[in-house]
This record gives sequence, structure tokens and C-alpha cells, in this order.
Amino acid sequence: MIAEILSVGTELLMGQVLNTNAQFLSRRLAALGVTVRHQTVVGDNGQRLREACRTALERADVVITTGGLGPTLDDITKRVVAELAGQALVLRPEAEEMVREQLAKRGCPVTEACLAQAMFTPDSLLLDNPNGTAPGAIVPMGGGRVVIHLPGPPEEMKPMFRDQVEPWLQERSGRVLVSRYLRIFGMGEAAVDARLRDLEEGGNPTLSPYCSLGEVQLRATAAADTEAEALALLEPLLAEIRARLGDVVYDVREDEDGGLAVSCVAALRRRGWTVATCESLTGGLIAATLVEVPGASEVVRGGLVTYQSVAKTLLADVPPELIERCDVVSAEVACAMAEGARRKLGVDIAVSATGLAGPGGGTPERPVGTVFLGLSTAGGTRAIPLHLTGNRARIRTLTMKHALNAVRCEAEGRSGAAEEKRLN
Ligand code: AMP
Ligand code: MG
Repeated sequence: MIAEILSVGTELLMGQVLNTNAQFLSRRLAALGVTVRHQTVVGDNGQRLREACRTALERADVVITTGGLGPTLDDITKRVVAELAGQALVLRPEAEEMVREQLAKRGCPVTEACLAQAMFTPDSLLLDNPNGTAPGAIVPMGGGRVVIHLPGPPEEMKPMFRDQVEPWLQERSGRVLVSRYLRIFGMGEAAVDARLRDLEEGGNPTLSPYCSLGEVQLRATAAADTEAEALALLEPLLAEIRARLGDVVYDVREDEDGGLAVSCVAALRRRGWTVATCESLTGGLIAATLVEVPGASEVVRGGLVTYQSVAKTLLADVPPELIERCDVVSAEVACAMAEGARRKLGVDIAVSATGLAGPGGGTPERPVGTVFLGLSTAGGTRAIPLHLTGNRARIRTLTMKHALNAVRCEAEGRSGAAEEKRLN
């Protein structure tokens, strides 16, 4: 099955609104095993929308539109598609009921413009919209092709797709798809790709990598007649990936949630450890990211934001002479910060970060991106040097991720994984 996404809205072309709908749909369709070859964005213009839709129907079985279902004059998607289907829009009583119910919920008057939202071709399959007034629809276009209309607002579009369109697509494809998401930190995308290339070539299961800052994710998806068969295809692949990549795989899960902070909190919980941070260049980012995780309060005691040198002394007892002698960006100061935080906050593990986020302040010996993490436990304190590249935001974010990963590794009892990593 081939699908094409047609995002409708002049605001998307003008850059006023980011086309997050297309990203969401592409992701979900990929997970369903539906191939997406094109995403198109078109403004609220009848002629151009008609052209885009006709082209899409020439190369896809399913064309998914978002936007332009509302009551305003520029909402023309349904009309254009009905014309292409050679049918008229008629007031569908079931749709009218849906619209009236939503309007009543909102205390809005029923106007003629509002009821236009209940107009569909006679053979359209209606999609309920519990989060807005405009229903969606699956519109038969002849030759087994369909156009699926979804509303523009993401909070309306996403549940409609998940709850009503996905089951419809799945039923049509007649296959069960099972996916696992692997999260990787400490190995770049190219290196991951080089190690797994031959596995990515298999048709079933499929393996697709995608990366975010400093991290790589892999989605492994198997299609089969039953879930058990799909899992049986998937499991040897997952084992092979783990064998080839080793410790850099920090999580394997059934959903796309998770992340370094989630894994870090889980590892601390399992170990029964409390954690504290002492942050210079990250200014609290490590602690803030940790507390985004529900249940973090069980393990996160607190953090010190020690930005200027004097704060490192006042809050974390870092001796001024040490800063003077070794430089504030040094392994020694990172260790003293971590030790200070561990003692002051009485935690099992403390992590610190000191470094040069730039853009100014670099020297040939200590270029921008030079960062030292400190890691202190009852067993000892050590520094982890990092050599990061990029702009200030990137360096700060990567520092945070390395810090979370270092704490996770330590809590899991495997130290050193992060030590020699150079992420570019
Ligand atoms: P519409 O249904 O075309 O009236 O769209 C209503 C609103 O939904 C727009 O003003 C945007 O804020 C949002 N929206 C529409 N299309 C998209 C899209 N592709 N991605 C994200 N938001 C969108
Ligand atoms: Mg619009």
C-alpha cells in the first residue's frame, strides 16, 4: 500500500505553522508498513489543490489530506476532492449530528457555515471528531483508491488517525505489524549504519535508523499473519543488533517514548540510588531533564547551579586555589564539584559539568566544546573529558546527554562506556 500526504494550508507555505502533521503521519504510516513516497504542501487554492490531489492519486493508493475541513471560506479540501471523485457534496445526517453535538458542547450557535462541515460525498465513510467540530472522512475515489480527510489542528488530527484510520488501514493490509524501538547513545549514525548495513537490507523485518542530537534510534518492524509470528521474526534481529552494538544500546521498547533521562531514572531506581547535580555550563539542564520523568522525585534529590567560579566555591566547596591552579574547566574542578555536591546533598551519586559552551572563550589548548563531567560515588570520584563540537545550544545539550548516560552507566554498574566517546 502506498500513501501520500497532502497538507493543505497557506499558513504552512508561509512558514507560520510548522508541518508537524506530515511528520506525525509519516511516522505512523511507516510503523504500519505503509509506504510514503511523497509529502506535498499546498495552499488554500482550489486549482493548485486539484492539481496536487490529482497527481497524488496517480501515484498512491491512499491520499491523506490534513486541513481545510473547517467552516471558513478557505476550507475547500472536501469540495475539490468531491469534484475529482465526480460526486456532489451532500448533507450527511450522521455528520450533521456529530457537528451539532460538538457545537452544543461548546455552546456555539448552529450556522449554515458550520453545517457545511457535515457535507460529504454520499459514499464517504465518516470519521468522528471528538476534539473539534469538523468530522473527517474516507472518500472512495474509484479504482480502489481513497482520499482520507483529516482536520488541520494536530490535537484533532492525531486521535482521529490513531483511533479510526489506523485500524482501517491495518484491516485493509491484512497483516500484523510489530515494532521495537532501540535507543542508542555513544555511537554516531554512520558507525551504527556501517555495523548494521546488511541487516537493513532485509525486507522483513525492516530496520530503519533515524537520529536526533547525539542519539540514534532504530525501528525494527516485522510483518506477519499473527503477532507471535511477527515477534518470532523480530527477536533474532534484536539479539543480533545487541550483539553487534553492545552497551551503546541503552533501551529497547515497544513505543517511541523513553530517552536517556527515562533510562537514567529507571537505572537509579533499580539500584536504589539518589542523585544530585552540580552544573556550570548546563545551568540546571541536567536536573531539569531528569525531573521531566514522572517518578523522578524518588531518586533526584536536587542540584546546584554553580555558574561563576565563586558559586562553585560557595555552593559546592570547590577550593578557590584549585580553580586558580587547574582552570575552572578542568578534570580536577569537575571532580571537586561532583564531590562537593555529593557531600552537601548526601546522595549516592553526583554528576557535575564544567566546560566551554562558546561561542567565545576558546583557546588552542582548550577549544570551545571542551567539557569535563565529574562523577562521584562512595566508591570514588572521576572525571570524564568530552570533546564536543557545534554551537552553544548543541554543546550544552550534548553535555546534558553525556551526563545522564554517565549516571545511568554507573548506576548499572558498568563504568567507562562514555569515557572515550567523541560525538561529532
Ligand atoms: P484548518 O483545518 O486548515 O483550518 O487548520 C486549522 C489549524 O490547524 C491551522 O491554523 C494550523 O494551526 C493547524 N494546522 C493545519 N495544518 C497543519 C499541519 N500540517 N501541521 C500542523 N498544524 C497544522
Ligand atoms: Mg486551513
